[in-house]
Amino acid sequence: MSPGEYDAPVRTPTNPKGLRDIPFPLPDVTAAEKRRAKRILEAMRERYPDARCELVYNNPRELLVATILSAQTTDVAVNKATPALFARFPTAQAFADASPEDIEPYVRTLGFFRNKAVSIQSAMRDVVERFGGEVPRTMDELLTLRGAARKTANVVLGNAFGVNVGFVVDTHIERLSKRFGLAPEDATVAMVERRLMALIPRDAWTDLSHMLIWHGRRVCKARNGLCAEDAICKAYCSNARAAASPARASTKSAAAKKPAKKKAAKKRTKRKTPATRRKAP
Ligand code: SF4
Repeated sequence: MSPGEYDAPVRTPTNPKGLRDIPFPLPDVTAAEKRRAKRILEAMRERYPDARCELVYNNPRELLVATILSAQTTDVAVNKATPALFARFPTAQAFADASPEDIEPYVRTLGFFRNKAVSIQSAMRDVVERFGGEVPRTMDELLTLRGAARKTANVVLGNAFGVNVGFVVDTHIERLSKRFGLAPEDATVAMVERRLMALIPRDAWTDLSHMLIWHGRRVCKARNGLCAEDAICKAYCSNARAAASPARASTKSAAAKKPAKKKAAKKRTKRKTPATRRKAP
């Protein structure tokens, strides 16, 4: 499939928005579900107008390498490691000529660094040998590279080439899609991706993936999520309502306990006073 074919807008019954190039059927979604998804998209756009990929890269090759490195690791940690890595291996050929052991010292701070070093060296060797030194621009080709699964390929295509052929589903996007009711709780990652592709306009797939990741990192944290405080959460996440109720209940009970404490203190004062007076003489 050539890069241009991704943009061909052809309407079909299963892909009413013209997604004929998508090689799998998308789930049926209702008009009401689409309207709600659009409201979430608009709220996200308003909240996170500058949302973007937080990996630092200068070209598709660096983005591919950084994305392979980002598995099970934070973007911040990857961004600390990549300047020295890219300085030492400035081209795909440089990676291809190296051994994984040569790469390891530069990625040692990241989880699974040995596997990642092997993946990067193998992927770059294939880029050199099979793709003329250029990162391929199609999903099918990217998926042949070691270390590049669908999520990595979607990141590279969407951010380096502006091509939307799928929706990035990382841990934040999977969690938020379910909490916002965009996908069922028991949906697999593949199902979440297809639901998002069916619900969200194609030209917003990459942008919304960044917005959801930003919301996940800044608001919907694994610990201490701002469930009861955030306006988007309160509007669209059932957890926000669940979190608000116990908060109200505990506030009420705390308020109810205060007078009880005062009463107990008064009782103690009353009990002690006569005894103290009796001992005084
Ligand atoms: S309400 Fe809580 S669980 Fe839901 S999206 Fe917001 S922070 Fe996450």
